[in-house]
This record gives sequence, C-alpha cells and structure tokens, in this order.
Amino acid sequence: MVENHESKEYSGDEVVVRSLRPFGTSIFTEMTVLSDKHGAINLSQGFPDFDGPEEIRRRAAEAIIRGPNQYAPSIGVPLLRQAIARKMRRFYGLEIDPDEEVTVTSGATEGICATMLAILEPGDEVILFQPTYDVYPPLVSLARARARYVPLQGASFKVPRDELAKAFGPRTKAIVINSPLNPCGKVFTRDELSFIGSLCREHDVLAVGDEVYEHIVFDSREHVPLLAVPELRDRAFVVSSTAKTFSLTGWKQGYVIAPPALTGAVRMSHQFITFCGQSFLQEAVAFAIDLPDSYYDNLLADYTRKRSWICEELERLGFKVTPPEGTYYVLVDITPLGHDDDLAFCRMLPEEAGVAAIPCSFFWEGRSMGRKLVRFCFCKRDDTLEEAMRRLRQWNARK
Ligand code: PMP
Ligand code: GLN
Repeated sequence: MVENHESKEYSGDEVVVRSLRPFGTSIFTEMTVLSDKHGAINLSQGFPDFDGPEEIRRRAAEAIIRGPNQYAPSIGVPLLRQAIARKMRRFYGLEIDPDEEVTVTSGATEGICATMLAILEPGDEVILFQPTYDVYPPLVSLARARARYVPLQGASFKVPRDELAKAFGPRTKAIVINSPLNPCGKVFTRDELSFIGSLCREHDVLAVGDEVYEHIVFDSREHVPLLAVPELRDRAFVVSSTAKTFSLTGWKQGYVIAPPALTGAVRMSHQFITFCGQSFLQEAVAFAIDLPDSYYDNLLADYTRKRSWICEELERLGFKVTPPEGTYYVLVDITPLGHDDDLAFCRMLPEEAGVAAIPCSFFWEGRSMGRKLVRFCFCKRDDTLEEAMRRLRQWNARK
C-alpha cells in the first residue's frame, strides 16, 4: 500500500541557521547575473576575461590525464608547500617551514573559513575594518562570534588609531586585515601594521591576513605580509591564493601560512571542511609560484597601465575617482553624475549602459556608508575595457 505523505513546504528562514539569515545573496552573484541578463560588460565581480599562462594550464591538463586524480594529502602535496615557503623567502625574506607552517586550501575563501572556525568560540569578538570584504561577517557569525567594526578614515582609508585601540577588549580574539584591501585598494603600511601588532600583543589577539592581492601593489609601495611584522610573527595567519596572481579565479587554490601551533588549528578544521584541495592542480600551482620575476613584473606593469587608463577615462566621464594603491578595482563617487544611491545605480547600469559594477555600500555593515561609491574592476582585456568606456560615454551623452 502506498502511503500518502503530505509534503511540507519549508520557508527559507525555517531552514537556514539564524546566524546566516541577515546575509542575502552575495552582491557579486546579483550583479553578475544582472550583467549576463542584459549582455553587459561585466566590470562587477572581480575575475579576468583572460586566462592565466598557458604553460600553467598545460601542466594541470597533463596532470588530469597522468594523475594524481585521487585525494591529495590533507595539508597539501610537499612540492606545493615547498614552493609556497620558497616564495615567502624570495619576496619577503621570511623563513617558513613547509611541513609545519603551510596548509593548502580550496582557495583563500576556504583558508579564511578554516581559520575562523578553528579559532573562534561563541561570544568572541573579531575586529573588522570597514569597508569589509563580504565573506568575513558571515563567517564570524557562523562561528557564533561577534564582529566589531572599525571604519577606516578619510579618502585614503587610514587606520584610526585611537578608535582601533578602543575596539580591543577582553573578548577580542582576532582581527582581520585585508591588504591590499578589496574594494578600496588600500595597502596597509608597515607602520600601521606594527601599530596593530602592538595592540594584538598587548591584548593577546590573533591576526588574520587576507593577502590575495599581494602582487598587485602600485607606485613602488610595498606589500608587507603580517608574518613579516615582528609583533605578529608568532600570532598571524597569512592567507593567499593563486586566483588573482595567476588569473585563474576558477581554480580555487589557496593556502594558509602560520606558526606551527596556529597551523595545527587550521589543519584541524580544514580536514573536516574539504579535507584536501584538488590533487591534480597542486603541481601546476607549484610551477606557477616558481615562475621567474619577469612574470610578476609583467603582471604588475599590465595592471599599472590599466589602472592609469581607466582612472583617466572614468574621470573624463565625470566621476570622482580614487585611484587604488593596490588590487584591480577602482572606486568612483557617482554624485557628480547626479546619482546618490549606489545600489539603484548598479541595478540600472547594465540595462541602460551595458556595463556592470558593484555598489560599495555592501562593504559597510547595514549599508551604513559607501552609498555614493561604485566599484569597477579592471582585470579585463584592453579591448573589453575600451568597449565598456565607449558604452558609458554613449550612455552619459544620452542622459
Ligand atoms: N579575499 C578577497 C579580499 C578577495 O577579493 C577574494 C576574491 N577573489 C578572495 C578572498 C577569494 O579568493 P579565492 O578565490 O582564492 O577563494
Ligand atoms: N573577490 C571577487 C570580487 O571582489 C568576487 C569573489 C566572489 O564572487 N565571491 O569581485
């Protein structure tokens, strides 16, 4: 006999945990879907419209045919961990133990997730600078910890030292530092990091560095990894990935570097999140990291040129432009063009102008600031950027 099971209709809120309810669909997804719907040029979600070097991709393709295609060691293959340690010596003069201090993850995103879930207890506080990259608040929330926001100051997004010092307290467990910072391109100075490091020591706080744009730093500024700050060498996690450096955002190859005890914590949670990264890609990633200096120099030269060009073009269109210190994003103030609502502007632009961008208020809690700011990415071929600017000029002339 067939039983008649009445099917239950769940509402979304009934199923999803409370800690995730305040967070809607990622703004990157919303804008890319909208861009595709209108056949717009997508300068919203940050991914290149060209693929990284063929020699890297060829190695990955060969590895799929030859193997390995089974699970990698949970912490990553030795070849890749050694390449990551070599890179830290080559670029930053840091001695890293590949066996005790490096963990390979599925992108920087998993590295940040594994780190947060490994170190946060319910009720802990985590200091987040604003603007804040979108994954940190939900991860803090998932760990039942609390975010304490510190807005960066002024047009150059300086660290507000007094306010930051006041944000540290007995419940503070960690601070997240994203440098270069998405979306505004701020590069934290050695002096700022050293100040943050002293506060971390004073209050026994851990520091998590999201450094995925480490090789896109302009005008001879230096990228200082948290582990190169003496005050932080014993208490920092450096998270990075190959997404931006090698224009392979779809590969999701990341890693966490931290002193042995901290690495032990990351490995503990990582083994129960994904267990391991993608075995067939790890050898190709090691090869990529070891590419000669000329690769890294050309990457920076290309983005330096694209940055200058797009900043000039956007300024000529009438936007107020803040050239970034790092990353491949540029923020513009939309008020000179008669707009004052970033979200309405970005929802209108793909259909009206055929170009997509990101509304920046999503990088501030409760969209409390940034409503006049819009982010364009310039990790695109020159002809794509030229066409995007041509469309914006046409739209502007029609208005
Ligand atoms: N952190 C920041 C600041 C980012 O902008 C991004 C976007 N790529 C990531 C992390 C994600 O990196 P991955 O794709 O390696 O997970
Ligand atoms: N980091 C990319 C950006 O800022 C987006 C990554 C994602 O889609 N989550 O555009």
